[in-house]
Amino acid sequence: MANISCDYGQALENFIMKMVRNADNDVAVMPEAMEDICGLLKIAKVNIEHYKNVSDAEQQKGDIAIVYDNGNADLSREVGFSVVSGDGTIAGYRAYQQKDDIDWDENCTKRITTFLNMLHVFCDRSRLMKVADYLAFHDKELETYNIAHFVKTVNVAIAQKKIGKYNACYFNIRDFSDVNNMLGRNKATDVMKKYVNQLSGMLSKDEAVCRMGGDNFTVLFYKENLEKIKNYLDSADVECGDDGKVISIRSAAGFYVIPDDCPDVSQVMDCINAAKNVARSNADVSCVFYNDEVMMRDMERRKYEQLFKPAIKNEEFQVYYQPKVSLKKYKVSGAEALCRWFHDGELIPPIKFIPVLERNKSICTLDFYMLEHVCRDIRSWLDSGKEVVKVSVNLSRCNLGEPQLVERIIATVDKYNVPHEFIEIELTETTTDVAFSELKKVVFGLQASGISTAVDDFGIGYSSLNLISDLPWNVLKIDKKFLEVNQPSTAHNYLMLKHIISLAQSFGIECVVEGVETVEHVKVLKENNCYMAQGFYFDKPLPKDSFEQRLAVNM
Ligand code: C2E
Ligand code: MG
Ligand code: MG
Repeated sequence: MANISCDYGQALENFIMKMVRNADNDVAVMPEAMEDICGLLKIAKVNIEHYKNVSDAEQQKGDIAIVYDNGNADLSREVGFSVVSGDGTIAGYRAYQQKDDIDWDENCTKRITTFLNMLHVFCDRSRLMKVADYLAFHDKELETYNIAHFVKTVNVAIAQKKIGKYNACYFNIRDFSDVNNMLGRNKATDVMKKYVNQLSGMLSKDEAVCRMGGDNFTVLFYKENLEKIKNYLDSADVECGDDGKVISIRSAAGFYVIPDDCPDVSQVMDCINAAKNVARSNADVSCVFYNDEVMMRDMERRKYEQLFKPAIKNEEFQVYYQPKVSLKKYKVSGAEALCRWFHDGELIPPIKFIPVLERNKSICTLDFYMLEHVCRDIRSWLDSGKEVVKVSVNLSRCNLGEPQLVERIIATVDKYNVPHEFIEIELTETTTDVAFSELKKVVFGLQASGISTAVDDFGIGYSSLNLISDLPWNVLKIDKKFLEVNQPSTAHNYLMLKHIISLAQSFGIECVVEGVETVEHVKVLKENNCYMAQGFYFDKPLPKDSFEQRLAVNM
């Protein structure tokens, strides 16, 4: 018969108190609390077993923590206890008799089980706290750090007066929705994970890449790592799939060179966020460093975002028409609709607000507003017997994801009963395969309905010859950069212009050159067999009534 002589109740209470006081620590490192109770119950050894998978016997064996071992266990005589948690994890506890002890009676076994129960409660609590701690500071999906970790790390660095050693950065992966469309969500998430892990792999444990949500991340890194992080975010290759295929990923990143006296984390967040927003608004720039101008631009961005909805409602956007002139007859043979925003007596140019609207897809609303107003104008010109020319409307790439895009365009044109031959849609080149296939759908769809299509700004960015060979464009709008007279590239520009025109024409595509500003430009166009020009040499974008007057004398 086992003889547990001292006050068992008191000992259990002491044990619990010790465990509570040590709640933040792992039970396995609490030999003192264990010693008391094991001594009292004449237990030689306690195993704590956490298994991930109940059916996996091997794994069970390998995952045993011995909490207390006085080296005197009789391994053939044990009391066991185990529980399955909600997530399928098993926690097992075994206590062994001392070698020289007499057999435990029922009462003793009960007490030991009670003690093991208590142990379970505390072990589980400690485990849950670890899980909670992990969840609080990690992103579940990518298993990277999250915003809470970023805030904590910055706060600790400020408290330790080490913040000046760091820089911070906020980045957004460009066109990640295209990667999603191309690979599907799961594979795209894997790509994102690899992209972020590669970046984390370049840093030490005191630095961190943290997910803010979606495809937005922050990085806290030592100042000496700036160049390599900039280069990585500018462009990095990531393997996607098992076939070794690699995709190139670019990010838009805002950087803040943190000063020694940085007061708090909100200053860091505000600065990197403002710089990131400016980087996002500019497709050609991957890194923007915070300064006062960046803050101004970010405030402006927020202002435009807020003003947009009421501005649409109040019809603050106006259609300006810039004539396209035929160089054979010097007549207006078409026009481009360009947007002008009048707010509080101020004219806000497109360069300021279009990139802002492209960021949150408001541009799609504006594009359809423009199309609607153009159709309304054409309808009124037709009704009053005025001369009408084909009008091209710009459609931002952001519209390309919309499944019913072609139908919506046609429905808008038909709503005003405008013959399709009077409408042209200008689209710019795309950057990814997915966007290209969307573009293809739209161009073919419009073509079939008799609405013509134009490639806008051809020659800047990602021009590819597939773009003109694979799609049935009606018009190629050649960017004004080819008319730039800046030695030594003028000769090159003109040579490119000549060949682009001849290539397009051999595909049966009409060319319009943008930015024709001088008589010299007109001459160059004619020499190269291009007879459609758009530019200040002939006309600036005109308000509706001036354009009507211009058309009235169009002979
Ligand atoms: P874009 O579609 O390439 O339009 C041509 C731009 O070149 C217009 O600028 C026009 O005013 C300008 N331009 C025309 N002739 C000349 C010239 O001889 N010299 C110079 N230096 N510039 C000339 P704008 O109106 O400021 O518009 C800028 C861009 O904003 C447009 O480029 C277009 O991408 C975008 N945009 C304008 N309206 C809309 C719209 O309704 N929807 C969308 N999605 N984008 C629009
Ligand atoms: Mg255009
Ligand atoms: Mg253009």
